Amino acid sequence: MGDVTGVDGVGELHVSARGYVGLGPIGGGVTTVALVVPLAAVRTSGSAGRDFRRDFFAELERFPGLAGRFDPRRLVRSVLATGPFAQWSRTATASGGGALLVGDAADFFDPFTGQGIYSALRGAELAAACLIPALACGVNAPIPPSALRPYVRARRREFAGKWMLERLIGVGVGWPALTDRVVRRLAARPDLADLLVSATGNIVPARRVLAPSVLAQFLW
Ligand SMILES: Cc1cc2nc3c(=O)[nH]c(=O)nc-3n(C[C@H](O)[C@H](O)[C@H](O)COP(=O)(O)OP(=O)(O)OC[C@H]3O[C@@H](n4cnc5c(N)ncnc54)[C@H](O)[C@@H]3O)c2cc1C
Repeated sequence: MGDVTGVDGVGELHVSARGYVGLGPIGGGVTTVALVVPLAAVRTSGSAGRDFRRDFFAELERFPGLAGRFDPRRLVRSVLATGPFAQWSRTATASGGGALLVGDAADFFDPFTGQGIYSALRGAELAAACLIPALACGVNAPIPPSALRPYVRARRREFAGKWMLERLIGVGVGWPALTDRVVRRLAARPDLADLLVSATGNIVPARRVLAPSVLAQFLW
């Protein structure tokens, strides 16, 4: 989207009961605009024939912090629609062996916290660390499930904290009154805001946020 009013170089997240919108300035006066709506809204509207690509700007106008900021004539590419996102795989390996899942195929991270790209790339590193020794054994048949188990364990070690943190943030995002409360706390406590962004940005381990004494500070 070109020339979104009020964009000043930092990303924005706008949350409401209708869903959320992320703005990401990418340079040259262009901003990516992602609207995420609950599946229930799509199902309801789908049966009524509603098209979120057609209604994209009308929907953005319903967010108080976004109304009046977009000129539909400044669209730089057509609006794309995809989803549903919230799909989780029970396991990161195929039951018969010989295949493993990486990235979004293995697990879903809500785009709200922007963890998907890191998880896909880090997951690929974990997969390589497991597959290279397995393939070096000169196996011709599919790699047996036992040889892929270290990958599953490595994923759990790497991502368990992030899964928990992402689910907790998901609860907050689906509950605007809670989001408001946490955002007010973050505004008053920049150190907490830094910690949360550092944990979702993989700079510090997620467990630092998940300590009960720290979690409580997001509310009180
Ligand atoms: C609106 C939105 C905003 C997001 N924002 C962020 C963000 O800010 N930060 C962040 O970290 N993550 C974000 N994500 C999530 C991130 O994009 C994904 O987690 C990440 O791209 C997953 O990488 P992947 O390689 O697993 O899958 P993908 O990037 O989806 O790659 C899979 C590829 O496989 C191809 N493919 C599919 N089927 C076949 C087939 N049969 N044959 C050949 N090729 C095939 C697809 O075309 C695609 O190119 C966002 C996602 C969305 C939808």
